[in-house]
Amino acid sequence: MHNAPDRVAIIGGGMVGLCVAWFLQERGVRVTVFDRDQLTSGVDPVGAGSSWGNAGWLTPGLATPLPDPAVLRYGLRVLWRADSPVYVPPVADARLARFVAGFVRHSTHRRWQLAMRALAPLTTTALEAFDVLHAGGVRVRTRAAAPFLAGYRERADLDELLRELDGVRAAGQPVDAEVLDPLAAHDLEPLLSPQVRHVVQVHGQRYLDPGRFVAALADAVRERGGRIHESTPIHAIHAADATHAAGAAGTGRVVISRSTADGHDADGNGADRPGGADGPGADEEFDAVVVATGAWLPRLAGSFGVRVPVQAGRGYSFQVATPQAPSGPIYFPASRVACTPVGDGLRVAGMMEFRRPDAPADPRRIRAVVEAARGLLTGVDLDVRTHEWVGPRPCTSDGLPLIGRTASPRVFVAGGHGMWGITLGPVTGQLLADAIVSGTPAAALAPFDPLR
Ligand SMILES: Cc1cc2nc3c(=O)[nH]c(=O)nc-3n(C[C@H](O)[C@H](O)[C@H](O)COP(=O)(O)OP(=O)(O)OC[C@H]3O[C@@H](n4cnc5c(N)ncnc54)[C@H](O)[C@@H]3O)c2cc1C
Repeated sequence: MHNAPDRVAIIGGGMVGLCVAWFLQERGVRVTVFDRDQLTSGVDPVGAGSSWGNAGWLTPGLATPLPDPAVLRYGLRVLWRADSPVYVPPVADARLARFVAGFVRHSTHRRWQLAMRALAPLTTTALEAFDVLHAGGVRVRTRAAAPFLAGYRERADLDELLRELDGVRAAGQPVDAEVLDPLAAHDLEPLLSPQVRHVVQVHGQRYLDPGRFVAALADAVRERGGRIHESTPIHAIHAADATHAAGAAGTGRVVISRSTADGHDADGNGADRPGGADGPGADEEFDAVVVATGAWLPRLAGSFGVRVPVQAGRGYSFQVATPQAPSGPIYFPASRVACTPVGDGLRVAGMMEFRRPDAPADPRRIRAVVEAARGLLTGVDLDVRTHEWVGPRPCTSDGLPLIGRTASPRVFVAGGHGMWGITLGPVTGQLLADAIVSGTPAAALAPFDPLR
């Protein structure tokens, strides 16, 4: 018989980890969240993970798997350009090579369809899960993307989006889109420059300011009695159980440790202090652990049988002032640029840089996003920027997230959502919390088995 856990640790306080924590609380579980960074960095999104300075789109109609023949063709075409929106470092890195090989293998039309069908049960309920969070006291609302516009210089590029939307519908995710008359489009969004002659409006999507939302989610978890330890990196998980004995702590529960292998804590402050203390260097016992460490996921999950490569696909963003408040999000798919109203201005995001998640920000990538956006917006000075930011999208080689149990029945994983962890964070939290408490994962989670 399954015993529902009473105390669960969540490692990683980004969108996904906090959603798992919140939905576990809904089911009566006591939660403790550990993050190596300061979650308040959301106010001024510098450093931390991927959840802070991203585009904040809640767009189930566009949440497609990254491995895609069209994306691969595009990547190969632009990779060699100095201002390319895709960057793969020319260095020998076995892990990156494995990721790229898997990505190429999955970039077929057939695999895209299969992955899209697997995602559809998540995307179709993704927005409802935000409403549950709001009704349960998370104080930042999502906003209707009215309008959500995708703009192009060339008609052929627009047709590519229409084909993709057909594939999304065929997989079971409804999406309502219409091609606009160019004059009507410019009336709707005066920020579109005259070079943008072909525009599609996608209905029924939403957006939010991700930094504010994640901060509100953390507040809600705390208000319901959850503990959140910031600036607290976790270095090891020890699970004792029948299926996974490596590093067993011998308690029948799971122990997480801030300590490094040499018995020192993350800051080098001496030996472990096992036994549930709260201070630095302390080990702590829980009934179960959820690893939600984004692009860093393999470091802790690897020793629990998780083999799917998770590679940081780093994106950059910055903010610019606009002559009038933007009407809604704007997407320039051919340039791979995403724009979102944030505060009184516009956040401009883009780039897919396959480097290690902690590498320093590279100013050349910001310049690449600027050049990709140049000429597409009216009255916006892209050379006067604030809030420059880089964050690592946790990308899997098959384009599907990892949600569920590992080789240990006490260690779970939630992550690898790539481009769509904000949209899919709450529904992921709902489904995983149900699986942890009931012991029986929903059928919808089967394709996301972390041990696949
Ligand atoms: C430019 C850009 C634009 C994007 N736009 C969108 C969008 O419009 N819509 C959308 O749905 N998605 C978007 N995404 C993707 C989205 O941001 C990610 O999928 C999502 O934030 C992943 O959330 P996460 O919680 O899994 O990871 P993260 O937010 O990266 O959180 C992981 C956390 O784990 C912590 N951590 C790591 N290791 C440890 C450890 N050992 N101990 C303790 N803590 C640890 C990290 O500090 C981090 O805070 C975008 C991403 C980028 C970069």
